[in-house]
Amino acid sequence: MIPVTDAIQIVLNASKRLPPLTVPLHDALGKVLAQDVRAPDPHPPYAASVKDGYAVIAADGPGEYPVVAESRAGDDALGVILSPGTVAYVTTGGPIPEGADAVVQVENTELVNDASDGTKRVRILVQTTQGNDIRPVGVDIEKGAIVLTSGERLGASEIGLLATVGVTMVKVYPLPTVAVLSTGDELVEPTTGHLSRGQIRDSNRAMLLAAAVQLQCKVLDLGIAKDDKECLGRILDKAFASGINILITSGGVSMGDKDFIKPLLEKRGKVHFDKVLIKPGKPFTFAEIDFQSSESKILAFGLPGNPASSLVCFHLFVVPAIRLLAGWTDPHHLRVQARLHQPIKTDSFRPEYHRASVIWTDNDGTGNPGFVAVSTGHQVSSRLLSMKSANALLEFPATGRVVSAGTAVSAIIISDLRNMAFDENHMSSGAAFALPGIKSQKVTTDSSGDAEVRVAILTVSDTVAMGGGPDRSGPRAVSVINSSSEKLGGAKVVATAVVPDNVVKIQNILRRWSDIEQMDLIITLGGTGFTPRDLTPEATKPLIEKETPGLLYVMMQESLKVTPFAMLSRSAAGIRGSTLIINMPGNPNAVAECMGALLPALKHGLKQIRGDKKEKHPRHVPHVDAVPADVWEQSYRLSTADDVSCSCCN
Ligand code: AMP
Ligand code: MG
Repeated sequence: MIPVTDAIQIVLNASKRLPPLTVPLHDALGKVLAQDVRAPDPHPPYAASVKDGYAVIAADGPGEYPVVAESRAGDDALGVILSPGTVAYVTTGGPIPEGADAVVQVENTELVNDASDGTKRVRILVQTTQGNDIRPVGVDIEKGAIVLTSGERLGASEIGLLATVGVTMVKVYPLPTVAVLSTGDELVEPTTGHLSRGQIRDSNRAMLLAAAVQLQCKVLDLGIAKDDKECLGRILDKAFASGINILITSGGVSMGDKDFIKPLLEKRGKVHFDKVLIKPGKPFTFAEIDFQSSESKILAFGLPGNPASSLVCFHLFVVPAIRLLAGWTDPHHLRVQARLHQPIKTDSFRPEYHRASVIWTDNDGTGNPGFVAVSTGHQVSSRLLSMKSANALLEFPATGRVVSAGTAVSAIIISDLRNMAFDENHMSSGAAFALPGIKSQKVTTDSSGDAEVRVAILTVSDTVAMGGGPDRSGPRAVSVINSSSEKLGGAKVVATAVVPDNVVKIQNILRRWSDIEQMDLIITLGGTGFTPRDLTPEATKPLIEKETPGLLYVMMQESLKVTPFAMLSRSAAGIRGSTLIINMPGNPNAVAECMGALLPALKHGLKQIRGDKKEKHPRHVPHVDAVPADVWEQSYRLSTADDVSCSCCN
């Protein structure tokens, strides 16, 4: 396995720009210029008025004057020579008549009357100076000046400049032709309505073709190939013979017995590497193919099959290659520093490229404007949703540590840095600051990485979320947890937030806290009663993978000692991944009561969820293991964990 930076460098070294072509102006947009462009004539070609007004002789000064000529843009006022004591009407861009040396804008004049002989008179109200509001010949572009140099990329304004100087055929570097092939026996066309067992729709081909088109490449759709060596070989040969510059395949590059891409490329060219130390995208083959009929070598990228890996590798490796072929001088992505909106756990072995939305905010948590990075959620490489709305890849070195919220990290920008409206669905926890429009509380995160048991508190309340009243339950829960920290095995509240009574919003934050931030314990406060707005259990239950009815039973018993209304609680509790989620009532006192009842067993339960088998069972709590820890490790962990390596996952 080679480091990412080495892999990128190898790709860049192999990426030579294509021979230039002369294209008409309308085909030049987005391409890199392969010539210097000079202006054959000056611009403006005649002295022109900057304003609508009157061309005057400055020395005449204010006073009433006859309007002896009119010179509108496009008019030919030739032949008129202004003599002292006369003025000429001019519009913006109109030629300045000979003899005039200044323009007085119409706002500084008054039309006097139309005299009976048909002459117009105007009163000039201000003293002007020579040259006022006149663009002299060549003031914008001098004759013979270089307006564009070779290597510049042509955007709309550059196209405008070319048109200004009359260059309608322009020498540019062409964009490469990119062929895209999906490989896999399981793949069927996206048009397939009913999927038979073992089939999935091919997402990578449409995605990679779209990504190449977005970069203005010409594309060749090679379809889906079965995992059949002969058949694949034939498709590759045909593709190489068709004049392409880049081949992108997806799938078939890992360790499976039907992963044929690398051996096939090896037979046809030089494979530079087949594994990169990167997450996602470890199995990734890069080769150069020296095909006789093609002018330059063909670059072949064997991308991993998992869609998120495939697209991440496309951005990191293929995009810079395309840019170099297209003549760019600097093919690298823009990088910015962005502060994390939530804590993010990094991989212990592979540098990770975490998909995120980078957003400009008035306060990035330091009190200053800056970029904030919001994770797109669960980062498993098969989950294409982790690429949705991602405009950046956050670069995390392999430390295995939790990088806390508020930390400035390097973000590789992979699409438009739009000033996205930040909606509450993006709301997350752990932020040491509140983003505009988000009514989440400020939380302490400085030592979240050190806490033994990481706890998140979610207040569910329309009133609090809309600013209609203070949050009394949240802060109470924080102090209850923090004061019971030792009994809970070193618990610390590392995130709090407030959401309205809205199932989607509750679920978004529960998912984020459990799946991404991997909290040990989430306590929700409120929304457990009988009113129509009480929805917290409905939001929680679908997310729970294993129910924990005992906790509810104990909380109910305790609360009934205080009030018979406790029987109206509809709370849910259970385990999602390695996170315990417990619904508690919104009453500020209820948290203390419920926590008091749960304390004797909660520490033990939380350790079990984490799979810590060394925990000694407190004597007074009977030890009941619903699923023995080792069985759980095998049957549950392995099927869901993101970081488990196996030969067929990227
Ligand atoms: P492979 O790299 O061929 O071992 O594939 C890894 C994973 O990605 C498998 O789960 C494949 O089913 C999936 N996969 C491969 N190609 C595609 C594709 N074109 N579209 C969607 N998923 C794919
Ligand atoms: Mg495959």
